[in-house]
Order: sequence, then C-alpha cells, then structure tokens
Amino acid sequence: MLFENVGVLKADGTYLPAQYVGIRDSHIVWLSDTPPVEDFGERIDGKDRLLIPGLYNAHTHVAMTLMRGYGEELPLQSWLFDRIFPFEDKLFAEAVYWGSLLGMAEMLSTGTVSFTDMYYFCEETAKAALECGIKANIGRGVSCFDESKRFSDLPAYAELKELIPTYHESGDGRVRIDVAPHAEYTTRPDILRDTAAMAGEYGLRMQIHVSETNKEHLECVGRHGMTPTALLEQTGVLDRPLTVAHGVWLTDTDMERLAKHGTTVAHCAKSNMKLGSGIAQAEKLIRKGVPVAIGTDSAASNNALDMLDEMRMAGLLAKGVSCDPAAFPAATLLQCGTRGGALSQGREDCGDVALGYRADLVMLDMTDIGFCPAHAPLSNLLYGAGSRAVCMTVVDGHILYQNGEFTTLDIERIRLETQRCTDQILRM
Ligand SMILES: [Zn+2]
Repeated sequence: MLFENVGVLKADGTYLPAQYVGIRDSHIVWLSDTPPVEDFGERIDGKDRLLIPGLYNAHTHVAMTLMRGYGEELPLQSWLFDRIFPFEDKLFAEAVYWGSLLGMAEMLSTGTVSFTDMYYFCEETAKAALECGIKANIGRGVSCFDESKRFSDLPAYAELKELIPTYHESGDGRVRIDVAPHAEYTTRPDILRDTAAMAGEYGLRMQIHVSETNKEHLECVGRHGMTPTALLEQTGVLDRPLTVAHGVWLTDTDMERLAKHGTTVAHCAKSNMKLGSGIAQAEKLIRKGVPVAIGTDSAASNNALDMLDEMRMAGLLAKGVSCDPAAFPAATLLQCGTRGGALSQGREDCGDVALGYRADLVMLDMTDIGFCPAHAPLSNLLYGAGSRAVCMTVVDGHILYQNGEFTTLDIERIRLETQRCTDQILRM
C-alpha cells in the first residue's frame, strides 16, 4: 500500500509534511516527498492526515479488562486482596481469551500495535494475539508462596515449557514469550535465579514489577538487606534483557544499576497515580541513561489501555511536579511510547517511520478539532486531540483498524462474551 501526501511524525518528533510512504509486505520501503514510480497497490489519501509510528504498551495485564472498574478507590492492599485476587481465583481460560481480545480491540482503536503482557492462561492471550494480528511479548507470571517448592515445581514452569516451542516467535515473530517473575515480594531469590537461568537457556526476555510502592520497596530491604533492584542484580535477572514495571521508589544507585545493564523501565504514570503509589522519576531515569518506555498497566488499575492518554499523563505529571514546562518534552514522550517500547521488546526493526522498518503505523485525522489550527502537530496529538483522532492502525503492513471498524475482530461478539464470562465469574 502507499500513503500519499501524508504528514509524518518520526519517533524523535521530527515532522515531515506531504510524504509518500510505501509498504511492501510487512516493511516500509519508500519514504520520500516524491511519489514512487513503482506501483504499491492500494493507495491511501493522506490529505489532512498524520502518520505516526505505532505505539508500544510496555506493561499491561491485558485480560484484566474483565476487572475494569471492579475495585475502585481502595488502598493497594485492599484493592488486591479484597477485589482483584478473589476475582482472579475464579478466572478460567475462556474468560482470559475474551478479556484479552477486548483489551486488544481497545489498544488497536487507540493506536497501539504491540504490548508487553504479564498474566496467566498465556496460551489464550497468545491465540487471541495471533487471531487479531497485534504484536505481543507475553510473559507467564511466576509467583510462589510455598517454601517447599522450587521454580521447576511450579505450574508456571510447566506452562512455559509448553508455550515456548509453540508460541515463541510465532505469527512471523509478532508473538513472543517472556519469562515474568511477578515481583520480589511474590517470589524468592532462588526463584529469581532460576527464572533468569531459563530465560538465558531459551534466549527469552524478562519482565518484573519493581519498587511500585514504598512499602514493597522497604520490606524488601528489611527481608534481604538490599533494594529489589540490587536483589535482581545479585540473582542474575539484570543480566537478561529485562523490562521492570513502575520503578516508582528506585534509589539513585538502583537507577545506576539499571543503566549499567540496559534495563528498560516501563513508566506507568496513570496506574501509579490512581492507586496512590507515587510518581516515578521518569526524566531522571532518562538523564541517568536508563531506557524508558511507557505502559498503561492493567485496565483494573488504569481503566483504559490508551497509550496517548498515558503519554499525556506522563508529560503533565513531570511538568507539574517539577514546576518546569519543559520537563518530559513531547518529542521524548513520543520516543518512549514508540521506539523505546519496541526496543524494550527486542524488536530492533520496529518503532519508527523509517526505511527498512516494520510497517507498524497509526494514522490520525487532523481535521479533528483538537488539531486545529495546525501550529504543533505533536503537542496537539498528545495534549489536544489524543486517541479520538486515530483513524487507522496498521501492524506489519496489515490494516487491523480503520474508521471505527476492526478487520480481524468481531467487536460485538467480544463485548457479549466478555460480559458473559464476567457474569459467570461473579456468580461462582
Ligand atoms: Zn503490573
């Protein structure tokens, strides 16, 4: 396909007016202000449209759309133990499948092309992603509260062993399997060490929650005499390609450790604020050389899986807290939400509108009032129009969402089945 006469925003915030962007198979092979001679097939009129790199959600639990609005305005412990965990105890495979599809539909309609997930019943999420066409790094959550059990005794170990040969790098590499110990406080040092060893053995990336709340951070220091990040370093987890979610309470030394190992922090500003966990120092992380990506966390804590909303929140927070209107500039936010996320998933040829890159693209309608008049497309994208102006989402050269319609998903059925599964869980 060929986008004609379209305004392009590159991942670094550079704006290129009136471009021609040609896609062959799954890659961008033409990017110029002159039209190509060769025929690219379908032609898409880009007048009054903005083309940006697809957004990468670096931390979520996609099937938790089932719990959107189910635990509101509660302290974290009560939210988890009185609402979320009892609901999750009754989850079944089919519910995760439909909940995953609902989350994917929400993400595609708001410009997200790929997400990093940590949850259970991962086969269902993987199947849903393959059917949908979205990209996903799917991490099987590992937790252990039984002192007598080692990692290899856990259901997560057996499930990973089955998931890896079937789903890792499936769908032309769109679906990948990660190893995802849930957190320091839900595992043990030997479990962390063994998960890192498994990731090393199979060449997989890792994900973990780190220093989300001050309580969790301080209790780890009490238990192990070191911060969660120091423990990850000691157990070899930082030696693997890794995304840590949250990082709200990281110390300066923690940040230096993460920078040294090239570990990405998934900044989940809205979830952290809504759960009253605190505010991560995203800009300080960037200054210290830590790769930063943007994540929504789940729809149970965020209520939305909308990356443009998330980037807006991250920008406003940084500016408001520092009393500096130049903090976390729009171009840096875009970089973190696109290329930064792609790299955090190990997708080197993704996350930008550039020659040779995978065609993961989002087109926005610049006739939306939030873009008018056209002084600053990027700032108006983030702080004005937002995701309501998304009119097309393309993954690996395939249009998956266009003008309110999904090409691979039956949204009415997904809505009904999600409600049916939720009602069934609430009756159990
Ligand atoms: Zn999370």
